[in-house]
Amino acid sequence: MELTYTPEQDAFRAEVRAWMEANVPKSPLKTLEGREGYDQHVEWERTLASGNWGMVTWPEAYGGRNLDLIRWLIFEEEYFRAKAPLRANQNGIFLLGPTIMEYGTDEQKARFLTPMAKGEIMWAQAWSEPNAGSDMAAIRSRAVRDGDHYVISGQKTWSSRAAFADWCFGLFRTDQDSKRHKGLSFILLPLNSPGVTVRPIRQLHGETGFAEIFFDEVRVPVENRIAGEGEGWNVAMATAGFERGLMLRSPARFQATAKRLVELFRANEATASPAAREAVTQAWADAEAYALNTYMVASTIQAGGHIGAEASLNKIFWSELDRAMHRTAMSLLGAAAELRTYADGSLNEWLEGYIFSLSGPIYAGSNEIQRNIIAERLLGLPR
Ligand SMILES: Cc1cc2nc3c(=O)[nH]c(=O)nc-3n(C[C@H](O)[C@H](O)[C@H](O)COP(=O)(O)OP(=O)(O)OC[C@H]3O[C@@H](n4cnc5c(N)ncnc54)[C@H](O)[C@@H]3O)c2cc1C
Repeated sequence: MELTYTPEQDAFRAEVRAWMEANVPKSPLKTLEGREGYDQHVEWERTLASGNWGMVTWPEAYGGRNLDLIRWLIFEEEYFRAKAPLRANQNGIFLLGPTIMEYGTDEQKARFLTPMAKGEIMWAQAWSEPNAGSDMAAIRSRAVRDGDHYVISGQKTWSSRAAFADWCFGLFRTDQDSKRHKGLSFILLPLNSPGVTVRPIRQLHGETGFAEIFFDEVRVPVENRIAGEGEGWNVAMATAGFERGLMLRSPARFQATAKRLVELFRANEATASPAAREAVTQAWADAEAYALNTYMVASTIQAGGHIGAEASLNKIFWSELDRAMHRTAMSLLGAAAELRTYADGSLNEWLEGYIFSLSGPIYAGSNEIQRNIIAERLLGLPR
């Protein structure tokens, strides 16, 4: 692995930096978990697409730039350096996109990937059900074949930003006699289809993008199924791997937070405890370690290797790091940590980030489940 950048990579970095400086909104957008902020973030997705920056690793034919993973990491570093907004389209571009790339037909690729890269269709992930969260194989929502359609009934829950998204992708039971992970299919559908009801769930921070989705005999064309009927589990496992692995939480995000944490520490050094100094140092070192590890994984993938159950290690690492950094920031802020907005009306981003960081060990598969995966598949321990 080469730890220095080539002149071409440096030139690419300069190109991204210049574009970000010219285009990133000058003041922060509202949170993407609320309607107004979500719409602002969709606008940002379209600005990114206008510069062809929607998904830089994708083939040019689908609105990408065909770049390798090292350039993607450089892109991400510049993205967070410029304080660019979080991606409202993350379910699409980081999870569904790679899944369609791997399992979709040419027709599906042409139909779904380009509008995704352009920010024209925003996606929600509809997997979890009231009794099928960690135990996803317990899914009960069903899709019954009727000619060239499926008729979908059931309920999904905990669907991020489903209250605002245009389409969802999810797993549905197409073989009604099947058990566990057999007989499931991976199906895409518009959330404005007749028979779909989206009911927002108010989160701890008060926003209502999170939602339950109810399906009452919703008709979906069979061509909206990704891969074969009954093969949904394997497809979903690949999507989950993308969620826990490289793309969803790039190291640049945590390096940017670690840098802000160091600045916060310096501003509060006079009153900070020795323990806070240690926590800040540790966080900074951990963010750097995560970045170096990601460069190593990216190099391995580029050399033809794969990231399998190791994605679970990543997931635990970034979620615990994020929580630790925000907890340290809250202690540095003292009583001011609890203010939602400051006197000048600006949002207390540390508090917002802290509340969100609490969910990191739960979403993308809870950390307890990731530990089970590591124990069984990486360490070979008995179930
Ligand atoms: C912010 C946020 C966003 C989310 N976004 C989405 C989304 O967009 N789409 C979607 O489909 N879902 C989403 N989820 C749901 C998420 O994937 C589930 O909450 C998660 O998988 C846990 O499932 P559960 O809530 O049903 O908890 P349960 O499965 O009931 O688990 C409860 C607790 O028991 C533990 N546990 C369960 N089984 C075991 C076991 N075998 N061994 C050890 N411990 C175990 C779990 O780790 C957890 O701590 C989101 C959740 C959050 C918090």
